[in-house]
Amino acid sequence: MEIIDNVGAPPELVRIIHEEAKDCDVTQVIFGAFIPGLHGDKGAFNPVVGSIIIDLGACIVDKAWMKKGIMFIPCVWFNLLMTAFHELTHAVQLEAEPELAGLDALPQEYEDEATEIAERRLLDWVKEHPVPKLSEMGWVGEQLKRLLNRLYAEMPEAVIEEVDLQGTDIVARAVDAARASKEYGTEEKTALLLKQIDEGMVGAKVGDRKYLTAYEAIDLDYVQHKTWED
Ligand SMILES: [Zn+2]
Repeated sequence: MEIIDNVGAPPELVRIIHEEAKDCDVTQVIFGAFIPGLHGDKGAFNPVVGSIIIDLGACIVDKAWMKKGIMFIPCVWFNLLMTAFHELTHAVQLEAEPELAGLDALPQEYEDEATEIAERRLLDWVKEHPVPKLSEMGWVGEQLKRLLNRLYAEMPEAVIEEVDLQGTDIVARAVDAARASKEYGTEEKTALLLKQIDEGMVGAKVGDRKYLTAYEAIDLDYVQHKTWED
């Protein structure tokens, strides 16, 4: 498999792709930033030539994970991993059903499956690894440093927090993640979560601040059901 890196992809992302692409027919992975042909999409798979394109710029811009209370740096990192896993799943899908390549767009169920598998692979990865530091994220890290510098004037505390927590598996303030979760939103349940963090059952504490790890924050409702049953 050939890697064409026009920008400076994070080395860990390249490593993951090499590892995962062993099991499918991907011939080429191209990294770019703000690629006009992608119209803002974070990635694409071309079944004709077997190539995956990953748009590092679009992965920085998409803030969807922040709606779950997840901080900026991990939000971008999760976008990169999800995009890689999602497009790799399309490669596997098209290998299994080559006739799909004739369609203009994949049916929704294939998109849903790719996203679901990508999230599972992301959860597997975060269980084993901390989010890389900015200095380990190549061009993406450089862009994030610039953006955080600019944000510092507006929200110095949040920026310092992001920078201090880099390289760990801590990705969200517990209160923010609870507020954004479907079932954790009430004051009572948020209080229970904070108590569980105090007792060392979930999350992490830095000083007085209570946080959630990546594995917990990505799917807090799932974690919540588990702890409720205990
Ligand atoms: Zn897709």
